[in-house]
Amino acid sequence: ATAGTVSSFKAKDVEVIKSNSLAPKPDVGKLKFGHHFTDHMLEIEWTEGSGWKQPKICPVHNFEIHPGAKCFHYATELFEGMKAYRGDDDKIRVFRPMENMKRMLSTAERSCLPLFDGRELVELIKQLIFIDAAWVPRATREQPSSLYIRPTMIGTEPTLGVNRATQALLYVLIGPVGPYYPTGMAPVKLLADPKFVRAWPGGSGNFKMGCNYAPTLAIQSVAEKHGCQQVLWLFGDDHQLTEVGAMNLFTFWINEQGDKELVTAPLNGLVLPGITRKSLLELGKKWGEFKVTERDYTMNEVVKALNENRLLEMFGAGTACVVSPIEGILYKDEMLQIPTMNNPVITNRCMKELLDIQYGRTPSDWVEYL
Ligand code: PMP
Repeated sequence: ATAGTVSSFKAKDVEVIKSNSLAPKPDVGKLKFGHHFTDHMLEIEWTEGSGWKQPKICPVHNFEIHPGAKCFHYATELFEGMKAYRGDDDKIRVFRPMENMKRMLSTAERSCLPLFDGRELVELIKQLIFIDAAWVPRATREQPSSLYIRPTMIGTEPTLGVNRATQALLYVLIGPVGPYYPTGMAPVKLLADPKFVRAWPGGSGNFKMGCNYAPTLAIQSVAEKHGCQQVLWLFGDDHQLTEVGAMNLFTFWINEQGDKELVTAPLNGLVLPGITRKSLLELGKKWGEFKVTERDYTMNEVVKALNENRLLEMFGAGTACVVSPIEGILYKDEMLQIPTMNNPVITNRCMKELLDIQYGRTPSDWVEYL
């Protein structure tokens, strides 16, 4: 959906209503992920037939939505997760926002929610960040804080019946965040139980819609009962490794041919096409020091590599935590010890190179300025 092919709201038409009661900013050292919102939000209504209304940046406020609205019954809802970072030079950088727009539009298409010009939404998000710029935290090496951006769209048509919504609301919340896990960069243990499945061929696992997440919460509780922090989602009779919680999964090993290889599951509909995933694949290929592969791989291969001392590192990768090292996998009642932290060379390098780009220490065309 590029400009001209789809009817869209325009950033230049925005109406700005400033808040006259600004909230106190939270202490940067105590930021809890997802708990803090800035003073303003963006919202844009859509109705079939008349299209998008004027975009509005306004004080964060509650919605009045009919209890029969589609989003409350059939989960006609989608979202995105992206970040802006304040660099040491005080400039604010948004990381690859057009990639999030591409994914948001593909989810909108699958949800029968309206399309728009992604560039126009990015420009509106930048205006929103500019207005609430004082909320973008200053990071330290110990506290990699940033501004989380949550574009959302819901079907608001107030009728029951499993049909596409003829009314929708697109809105964007932003808020300062600290580390995603209360434990920070500490390595995590994963529950890998093939009786739980997150996504399947032809399903919706590769789209960022709320209905993919609610069913994972009970499994997350099972993981926690077993002393694990996250779920490793397996798929198929051969127990393919797909994703970790809400992150893509990377494995760095010496493969059966004896080559060093960074491997991750392919975009075959079972995983979310992560922007962090895409970025790490591109970085790994640019470094050119080991094979970088997107393919199916199984728990048998992982266990074999572990037994032959070929498994080096495993980590999750996503916007919220950037990179999250893995130290154990509970599989078939056995806690496999993953040696990531013995020598986390690639895990640390992935983390550092991404943060350096995001905070402007390494110049890159992956960042956009306000
Ligand atoms: N997988 C799932 C299921 C997710 O929810 C996310 C977070 N959006 C990711 C992977 C990582 O994607 P990204 O790198 O774009 O944050």
